[in-house]
Amino acid sequence: MASIQCRCGTVVIRLARALPKCAWECCCVDCYQKNMWSCEAGGVEYPPGYGVHGIGLPMHLVYFDNKLDVQKGRERIAFNRLRDDARSTNMIASCCKALLCVEHPGYVGQSVLLFPDFITILGAPPLLPPACRIFIKDWPADAYAKLPPKPGIWWEDGKMYGHSEEDKALAGKSVEGMLQAMPPSAIGETFQQLLEAVGGKVDVLGLPEGPNSRRKKQAQAGKEPGGVEKAFNYKGQGQGL
Ligand SMILES: [Zn+2]
Ligand SMILES: [Zn+2]
Repeated sequence: MASIQCRCGTVVIRLARALPKCAWECCCVDCYQKNMWSCEAGGVEYPPGYGVHGIGLPMHLVYFDNKLDVQKGRERIAFNRLRDDARSTNMIASCCKALLCVEHPGYVGQSVLLFPDFITILGAPPLLPPACRIFIKDWPADAYAKLPPKPGIWWEDGKMYGHSEEDKALAGKSVEGMLQAMPPSAIGETFQQLLEAVGGKVDVLGLPEGPNSRRKKQAQAGKEPGGVEKAFNYKGQGQGL
């Protein structure tokens, strides 16, 4: 079984399995922004290869069961979100501002998201590179063309798009992994239970959505109204992981 620990070692959480249920490479502005916030708030350098959205690497994402067995540092577990209408909630360690994991209603309560390049995952074998990319339209097109080729998808007007049917089928398999039900034997508390334990308190960072966001770019081009994110589920609709 794998564990995660915050940068200073105060918070240690055991995960319910050794290997992720699914992995992606994500091009979205929010994955970048929350990790950059965490590095800056914690006073640490960005990991090698990361830095500015659209110039550094896309984010490596892995999903584990939503069962978190807190071994120590429980009193340091806190929560935030990027802005008022962000649908993702971030679990952070208040000691060193490490981003521990993320919850989104689209995971239907079965998974949490971790960023393995930003959080130490102990006891997991070396992770394979993700098979496909998501939210590829958030990445500037010229910079995207220079990335190593990989199947990629995005969501637009509530529908999943890809450059080919094969890309969409491959992405669909990863979505299934993410939605896969947790085994009844999994030990620990859910993200939601840990949030409840602090009285549901979520700090709002109040950061504006990054300018590379597909939705923002399209809104600026006058094709669709900007503003509130659409309703979201992985069966078809989307905006924001
Ligand atoms: Zn810490
Ligand atoms: Zn993302």
